[in-house]
Amino acid sequence: MPNADLLTRSLTAVWHPYTQMKRHEALPLVPIARGTGVWLYDFNDKRYLDAVSSWWVNLFGHCNPRINAAIADQLDKLEHVMLAGFTHAPVVELSERLAQLAPADLGHCFYASDGASATEIALKMSAHYWRNLGKPQKTSFISLQNSYHGETLGALSVTDVALFRDAYGALLKQNATVTSPDWRNAAEGESAADYALRCAGKLEAHLQQHHDSIAAFIVEPLVQGAAGMAMYHPVYLQRAHELCNQYEVHLIADEIAVGMGRTGTMFACEQAGIRPDFLLLSKGISGGYLPLSVVMTTDEVYQAFYADEVARGFLHSHSYTGNPLACRAALATLDIFAQDDVLHINCSKAAYFNRIAAPLREHPKVRNFRNTGMIWAFEVESPHTDFAQRCFALALQQELLLRPMGNTVYFMPPYVIGEEEMQMLVERTLDIVEALI
Ligand SMILES: *Cc1c(COP(=O)(O)O)cnc(C)c1O
Repeated sequence: MPNADLLTRSLTAVWHPYTQMKRHEALPLVPIARGTGVWLYDFNDKRYLDAVSSWWVNLFGHCNPRINAAIADQLDKLEHVMLAGFTHAPVVELSERLAQLAPADLGHCFYASDGASATEIALKMSAHYWRNLGKPQKTSFISLQNSYHGETLGALSVTDVALFRDAYGALLKQNATVTSPDWRNAAEGESAADYALRCAGKLEAHLQQHHDSIAAFIVEPLVQGAAGMAMYHPVYLQRAHELCNQYEVHLIADEIAVGMGRTGTMFACEQAGIRPDFLLLSKGISGGYLPLSVVMTTDEVYQAFYADEVARGFLHSHSYTGNPLACRAALATLDIFAQDDVLHINCSKAAYFNRIAAPLREHPKVRNFRNTGMIWAFEVESPHTDFAQRCFALALQQELLLRPMGNTVYFMPPYVIGEEEMQMLVERTLDIVEALI
């Protein structure tokens, strides 16, 4: 199909996500014909290094042969069956394997198809748990400043990104936010750990006063993605976990972006040594192939719903809950983690990247260069108010897919990125930074 035709038809027939469509009068869409490894190709075979893993979902490259084979195999057996009243091997196996990998006692898996739905499920389950326990007044939630947990109405009510919220404020339940431990806001000379503890003090003050009405505290462990890859010290999670236990408030770990090895450990919570009451996964869980999300929770939560009365049960569903194809993609993804010793290898890849990224880190116009696992981010001091769009456009010319958030440039590459590709990413990003300062 010729490029130009596809672009026009897409702009006519498709309403693209997170997009002011009028912008596309000036900025063309990028038509993608195929992908392999870290590369996406357009119809003229021009390539782009997918340095953001296609919105943080892709782990092992595009068109990964092993994930392809697993889905093809499943396709010949069973494409889908409803999960109410029925079950199938991929969903059982996936639940068991996730429970083995996750912090102990998160042995009950509830499925949906996207991250926002996982947030909705955790919020509903938490409040319903307290109701089943005779504490129906515990219906509010708290989240961190600049938090992002999805954009459906419930998820948006615990999301603190003004651009996403402002138009819908009137539709949202009011929930409080507490100070983010984002170390960029630490005082002069204050360590990330000290700042995290200072912020945990604010959480404590809030819980002390309001715990009676709070069902849960929802948090993105270690990295607040949509806030611009804000990173913080794990001691915050340790303290938050203690406080939540003390004040009888659930801790919901939204690992939709940071789970599946992204922060260096399989789950970010492991770095704080904590077990949350709910652990949410999506994005990378299917290797970036198919929509799938899961809410993992404890036996204590599960038992609070287990009763003779139907109304005490968790009466929530989605049509594609536990889809077998998506579960097989997730199982193939877990196989790759095990077979290729991925976490270990990522650790050396990250060390290599940090070495070669020195010219970026030390660049006079680059601020707060930071890294957690396979995520890198920094701010660029630039006179351009439309820095993000300019950077995106220049990156495309340089065969890179970068999507800065404001002045924050970040890399979140597929784990299969090689050394040459990392070098290219650093060198060309430096050129782009030079062109925009
Ligand atoms: C992406 C994301 C979500 C929402 O997931 P969707 O699949 O886009 O609905 C929720 N929380 C976090 C931390 C995310 O990064």
